[in-house]
Amino acid sequence: MEWTICERPAEVYDIEPTQRSAVVLSSGGLDSSSLISMLLNLGWDLTLIHFDYGSTHHEAEYHAFLRLVEHFGIEKERVYVVDLSSLKRLVSKGVALLDDQVDVPEGYYTEESMRQTVVPGRNTVMISYGLALAESLGKKFVAIAAHEGDHFIYPDCRIDYLRYMSQTIFLASDRKVKLLAPFAHLAKWEVVSVGNRFNCPFELTWSCYKGEPPKHCGTCGTCVERAEAFQKAGVEDPTIYDKDPCSFLRNKED
Ligand SMILES: [Zn+2]
Repeated sequence: MEWTICERPAEVYDIEPTQRSAVVLSSGGLDSSSLISMLLNLGWDLTLIHFDYGSTHHEAEYHAFLRLVEHFGIEKERVYVVDLSSLKRLVSKGVALLDDQVDVPEGYYTEESMRQTVVPGRNTVMISYGLALAESLGKKFVAIAAHEGDHFIYPDCRIDYLRYMSQTIFLASDRKVKLLAPFAHLAKWEVVSVGNRFNCPFELTWSCYKGEPPKHCGTCGTCVERAEAFQKAGVEDPTIYDKDPCSFLRNKED
């Protein structure tokens, strides 16, 4: 089918050079930075779009994003920052990333603690902005670094959702724009492996929901997940943690 989503790293290599242009949803975290590293290395024409949806950790994420833009040498004309803080007014109640009254979960993510970090509608809103930009600039893809580690609780990272969204934006753009989600079947540690292969500057990326730059807290769910991903991938973790996240990591037998 012509709207078929590109959902594995190997499929990125099969895309014809004339089709290699994308708007990348870029948070400043290690997933989207690994994706940018991969695509730039394969000669893609990239435009980056970054969103402020009013999260408690946005400032740290935004500064990481700006450092990455500089590192990758992406011109200002190819960088878009969108204020989505109005989303916070609609959906913040009970969402740990948006509601100051809710504590960010600590330690290894459980289904319940991860559920507190779901921002309703987030990827649909961001992909829609990406589509608008890609279509207006004549780019062929909206690229998103959603990966399998997020599937079990984030419904808008699951493969069915991504396939339907690819079909939706393809029809919405009169068959001009599709979704590129090459990490859709990868665990987070595999994303780190791909990023490492393409020299992703991990030390510039930011994941933490609680810490103050330059230190990640080392105790929130996303810090623990980050540390585990580096450990499993066998890649040196360049992150500066306030507290050692290793005490939270599961034993291998678990
Ligand atoms: Zn943290």
